[in-house]
Amino acid sequence: MTGTDIAIVGAGAAGLMAAIWAARTRPNARVTVLDGAERLGAKILVAGGGRCNVTHERVSPEDFNGGSRHAIRKVLLRFDVPETVRFFGDLGVTLKREPTGKLFPTTDRARTVLDALLAGARGAGVIFDYPRRVEAVDYSHGLFDLRGAWGSLTARRVILATGGRSVPKTGSDGHGYVLARSLGHTLTPRILPALVPLLLPAGHPLTGLSGVSSEVVLALTQDSGRALVTVSGPMLCTHFGISGPAVLDISRHWQPAALDAPSVQLIVNWLPGESFESVDRALAAHPGSALRWLEGRLVERLARTLCAAAEVNPSEPLSRLTRDQRRTLAAGLTHCVLPVEGTRGFQYAEVTAGGVPLTEVDLKTLESRCQPGLHLCGEILDVDGRIGGFNFQWAWSSGYVAGCAAAESLA
Ligand SMILES: Cc1cc2nc3c(=O)[nH]c(=O)nc-3n(C[C@H](O)[C@H](O)[C@H](O)COP(=O)(O)OP(=O)(O)OC[C@H]3O[C@@H](n4cnc5c(N)ncnc54)[C@H](O)[C@@H]3O)c2cc1C
Repeated sequence: MTGTDIAIVGAGAAGLMAAIWAARTRPNARVTVLDGAERLGAKILVAGGGRCNVTHERVSPEDFNGGSRHAIRKVLLRFDVPETVRFFGDLGVTLKREPTGKLFPTTDRARTVLDALLAGARGAGVIFDYPRRVEAVDYSHGLFDLRGAWGSLTARRVILATGGRSVPKTGSDGHGYVLARSLGHTLTPRILPALVPLLLPAGHPLTGLSGVSSEVVLALTQDSGRALVTVSGPMLCTHFGISGPAVLDISRHWQPAALDAPSVQLIVNWLPGESFESVDRALAAHPGSALRWLEGRLVERLARTLCAAAEVNPSEPLSRLTRDQRRTLAAGLTHCVLPVEGTRGFQYAEVTAGGVPLTEVDLKTLESRCQPGLHLCGEILDVDGRIGGFNFQWAWSSGYVAGCAAAESLA
């Protein structure tokens, strides 16, 4: 059995950040990172379509779900966006801002980010040991004992940075939750895939428009018609249903809402800024056909599909439509119900909603309130951000807090 001062389980974004800051905080301490994966950083490499959306120019607690906003703010403030930009700059990764406010490496390569983190960690003296899947962690007499098929390791402090359950083939298969529970933690009642594409029934007209993307407003509404959540942005039609930033963001809210009340509806307005009334008025006043009116507003394939769904001939002059036909078309364009059947699941989810409640950690140190000497950071905690670099920002901020605190506590 070998020993270390700080064992970090998981070499994803949060674990690498924790490792760097633990080693920088206490240069003489032994900091060992264990990861079950054959190759490190799989999720960083696939992030942002291979470009890695490192953070966002403006990050606030309102960009997150899960734990309380107050709790999330406390952690984010400890390592904010300017600190993140400086940190990566010091590692040799310059970031550029895109018009959406998202920050990417100027190289447009996620590999740049991963290599810099690994070099930063190795430069600070961090030891990497992988593949080493940690099957169990016990604590007795002031020491942790981490075990797996590879043997065991004792540690004075442990940082759990095992991520959630999204894209399990990257190594984040949810076993971290088992470890956390074995050390006294509970989990939120629901652990669900988030930022995940949504499924429509086979043969739904939108599944025939694979590859068509459109700016939309999506609303999740209750029986009463009240919108629970509204999201605007691009929506992509696919062979299985819908995806794209607006869909991924609203997926976080759709699933729990649908579990609580199966009658919730996902409604798309294909014409952001327009309402049923404004479109109905405009259609009534237009001299040409529906296709002419929709030209420049929607791509033709989508326009034709929506006309077909409203049983309107797209080339017929609008003046020839009955009032009911025109109103059906206006409704289909601004208030189109999407009969979502489910999500594509954890295999395709960018993050996990739920996890270890933030109430079970000390927010100043991210040390467990259940097991002294244990710290948690990253996606294993009950925090998930919207699309745009927010999830990585949570990993950087929480990894920083856990890494520094674990090292400081060694004194
Ligand atoms: C396709 C995709 C694209 C994304 N794009 C972005 C983006 O552009 N911007 C953004 O902000 N977020 C993005 N995200 C989300 C972001 O990647 C995650 O929120 C973030 O990586 C979480 O970091 P983490 O370190 O907490 O967990 P993870 O990155 O999941 O890392 C956990 C690590 O722990 C290891 N591990 C798990 N269990 C064990 C065990 N028992 N023993 C040993 N090791 C273990 C795993 O192998 C893994 O390496 C994306 C996610 C996906 C899936």
